[in-house]
Amino acid sequence: MTKAVALLSGGLDSTLAVKLMLDQGIEVCALNFTSAFCTCNSGGRHKAEGKEHGGCRSEARNVAEKFNIPIKVLAKGLDYMEVVRNPRHGYGKGINPCVDCRVYMFSLAKKYMEETGASFIITGEVLGQRPMSQRRDTFRIIEKESGLIGLILRPLSAKHLEPTIPEINGLVDRAKLLDMAGRTRRPQMELADDLRVEDYPCPSGGCLLTDKIFSKKVRDLLDHKNDITTKDLHTLKIGRHFRHNGVKLVVSRNESENAKLKLMAQPGDAVLEPIDFSGPVAVVAGNGRLNGRNAAVDMAARLILRYASSSSKSPGGKSIRVTDGEQARPAGGPSRTAGGQARPAGGPELIVIAEPADDETIEEIRVC
Ligand code: SF4
Repeated sequence: MTKAVALLSGGLDSTLAVKLMLDQGIEVCALNFTSAFCTCNSGGRHKAEGKEHGGCRSEARNVAEKFNIPIKVLAKGLDYMEVVRNPRHGYGKGINPCVDCRVYMFSLAKKYMEETGASFIITGEVLGQRPMSQRRDTFRIIEKESGLIGLILRPLSAKHLEPTIPEINGLVDRAKLLDMAGRTRRPQMELADDLRVEDYPCPSGGCLLTDKIFSKKVRDLLDHKNDITTKDLHTLKIGRHFRHNGVKLVVSRNESENAKLKLMAQPGDAVLEPIDFSGPVAVVAGNGRLNGRNAAVDMAARLILRYASSSSKSPGGKSIRVTDGEQARPAGGPSRTAGGQARPAGGPELIVIAEPADDETIEEIRVC
């Protein structure tokens, strides 16, 4: 039986592409990519309906389960950040390196194709749907750079494209492939009805790298850090970000971020919390040596006052506790360090008296 690997996001287009292949009697192995930058983790429609939902990964799993096909989930690793840092083909409207990102994913898909003994790869891409990565010329670049010339079949748009090797070899019936193009989604919706693909998820996922505001935080991280960690990436999604004399400061925006920031704090980070007033938590990355005050900690304390409730801004300043990230984690956080040692219940702390930062200072040091 002919076998294909499908890049399955869990969205409508890739779901339809899989269905078209299954209807041709082709065995399909799904491959789903996850990323720290995916926005499809809020639950959306499925959560509202009380169904289990963990973002695209769950949507892709649901589709695979419905079609009874195997699925492999691959996380874009930290090596992906080098793609974001230095894309050969540039960025879109944010810091999204779409062409290079597709090359990255297809290169991994090629390995999976070889492992599974599949003959080709399918995707739900539609010609002209996305300005950067779904153009005829970029399709060619992506195929060439991922070593997959003639081996990427796009069933929804195949009739607009050169026949692929599986079509030429008769593994796939080109006559049954489609000629969708452009940004309208109506044909996909109609096809979903025709093929009785029901209960499909949001039509397309989101990527934070396309967000201009979020992109500023990513650029700042890339400009200041070489050995980026998973924690760095997740911290980008929390709080207001500042850079003061090269040191990163993050200030939470609400109660739930207070807990998240403390949970993410690492040994060596300084964690600042209001002592006797209501206000945000701040983290000074990698600057938690409590053997003396420093300018970054002082600035973070001023930022806390700046974003605290107005009743907290009485003259004379307010007290803020500074602890090392090791001690600051909230109850429920890991009770052991990465090295396996028990986390100390208490630890050295510093009390800082601060006045709020003014608007000019905020603008000067704000990343986003
Ligand atoms: S939008 Fe994001 S995930 Fe999609 S191709 Fe571009 S960079 Fe990659």
